[in-house]
Amino acid sequence: MSTPFDLSPRPTLGISACLLGDPVRFNGGHKESRLCSHDLARYFDFVPLCPEVAIGLGIPREPIRLVGDPDSPRAVGTRRPENDHTDALLEFGRTKANQLDGISGYIFMQKSPSCGLERVKVYQDNGYPAEGGGRGLFAKAFCASRPDLPVEEDGRLNDPVLRENFLTRVYAYAQWQALRREGLSHKAILDFHARYKYQLMANDPVQYKALGRLLGSIGEHRVEDIAPRYFSALMAALKKCATRRTHSNVLQHLCGYLKRHLSRDEKAELLRLIDQYRSGIIPLVVPITLLKHHFHGHPDRYIAQQAYLQPHPEELSLRNAL
Ligand code: SF4
Repeated sequence: MSTPFDLSPRPTLGISACLLGDPVRFNGGHKESRLCSHDLARYFDFVPLCPEVAIGLGIPREPIRLVGDPDSPRAVGTRRPENDHTDALLEFGRTKANQLDGISGYIFMQKSPSCGLERVKVYQDNGYPAEGGGRGLFAKAFCASRPDLPVEEDGRLNDPVLRENFLTRVYAYAQWQALRREGLSHKAILDFHARYKYQLMANDPVQYKALGRLLGSIGEHRVEDIAPRYFSALMAALKKCATRRTHSNVLQHLCGYLKRHLSRDEKAELLRLIDQYRSGIIPLVVPITLLKHHFHGHPDRYIAQQAYLQPHPEELSLRNAL
């Protein structure tokens, strides 16, 4: 189906520089992720950053580690703990979060005391890491300044569900940024929400209803008040991963738009594939492809603009593994 849902402009992502193969690690090495440097680089522009190099630590350098309270650890040298880089990393995170307002997501290097998003080791006085760990300091300050920005770690992107969820959010974020550049209005917000209706139903059916209620009274709010409230709630809802059950529910809703056009056999075939998808026998791309085929033959303007049918470029094949 040729869809009017437009995925342009090409999104820009912030990324830990070592993931692109830049030799910026403490030992002069890198941690290239082929998924990032090869597969994703075809669809995204990257802004690579190494916070440790940026605050002047040099290459090679003394490795650093987190110590103290896991909720507010300090980043110090492993050999010379008097070298405390906490304030510099936090300040750099805040500064970059504000400077890079054009990015639509960030991929952080896992386990790093600067870039790690979760479960980074935080060492205690007894020499052992605390249970649960903490967050790298650059990542912590960056995310606190940009709470709606889609962020993910490289390791988690190997999980097909998390990868698809992250990139769906990146494109949604980029679409919203484009809308903001064009100028927000009550109507523009309502149109945006309409385009994300079925995507939201797949990710978080409860929040989908709550957002509908919020926008039900949109006329009572100033655009500059309701827009950030709506968008924060939308991004939080999209963060929840869709399941086979919620996807199947959406697919059945979409079938409803075709019921007057399809023969009994065509409907039965579609429902059989949705059922097989729900049971884990076939991937999501199979029923979606047949649905798109039918909508190509029987176009529906409302469905054609739905993000759900094409939340990210088809060539990324993200739904083949769902
Ligand atoms: S994890 Fe972050 S700080 Fe460490 S080398 Fe990579 S980009 Fe630099």
